[in-house]
Amino acid sequence: MTPSAQALRKNNSAGRLIPALFIPEGRFFWFDLLPEEPSPWYKKYIKGIEDMVVTQRDISHAADLLGLSGGIVCLHSSLKSFGRVEGGAGTVVAGLLDKGTTIIVPTFYYGAIVCPPPEKRIVQNGTDYSSLPAPGEAAPYEPTPDIIDKSMGAIPAFVLKTEECVRGDHPVNSLSAIGPKAKEIIECQKPLDVYAPFRKLYDREDAFLVLAGVDLRRATAIHFSEQLAGRRLFRAWAEISGGMIQETEVGSCSEGFNKLKVFTDPIERSMYVGESLWRVFPFRKFIDVVAGAIKENQAITHCDDENCLRCNDAVSGGPVI
Ligand SMILES: [Zn+2]
Repeated sequence: MTPSAQALRKNNSAGRLIPALFIPEGRFFWFDLLPEEPSPWYKKYIKGIEDMVVTQRDISHAADLLGLSGGIVCLHSSLKSFGRVEGGAGTVVAGLLDKGTTIIVPTFYYGAIVCPPPEKRIVQNGTDYSSLPAPGEAAPYEPTPDIIDKSMGAIPAFVLKTEECVRGDHPVNSLSAIGPKAKEIIECQKPLDVYAPFRKLYDREDAFLVLAGVDLRRATAIHFSEQLAGRRLFRAWAEISGGMIQETEVGSCSEGFNKLKVFTDPIERSMYVGESLWRVFPFRKFIDVVAGAIKENQAITHCDDENCLRCNDAVSGGPVI
């Protein structure tokens, strides 16, 4: 079985899919059932997809088919998942921008986190303060395009380097955006209001969460659901330029978030773009479904490592402030 066919099966809880519509020019698959053993013609189509190079036109076409055009997309992505992309990360961004889409990406940076002074060391904060560097030992945050954690991936790194990029005011968990509504959505982010942009998206009908080749562990917005479910957000302290220490709100451990899949599957629409499985969720619905699941069972987000301080403290309600 080809890797794509395996991925199709893996991502389908029913385990049985057949392609419902194939658009040769668009290079996309719609599917709702996968055969237990894909037939030779099915394999041929999958192989065809694997041999293709994803173009800007393909991305724009996907935006149309998925109803993202003109909307706001909170995008978590793995560029590698696409297979070959003509022009790389810039092509994905350009394909969405061409359709009037505003793109929001995570542009986190962990290098500036330091140990706070003793009077600030709040309890139940998911933090082993003894493991943190002292002020002066970290690499201070500056809002420059090269200050981003590598784990964010190629597409956020590309967005950050564009002239039009708007970056939120947060030295650890900044969100950045490009597109017509970038400023409107992002400029409300502050060190002690990390998910303010998500509140804006929550109030809009045209906002979507898109997971392109990644799973729910990358969906930062789940931390916003945690907040709505009654958890207090963790605090982290970051050194910024000039030697100042800034107190910030940050997210929790996300390693257990795939356990929420059973709740988000019913509101998911998915399709392949090149080799990348795009999973699309209406933003507000996603937040509500996840917040409801957490309220019902606080332990559902736990990563199952009984020693995980962040999960243990988050499930207990978060820091005592
Ligand atoms: Zn954990």
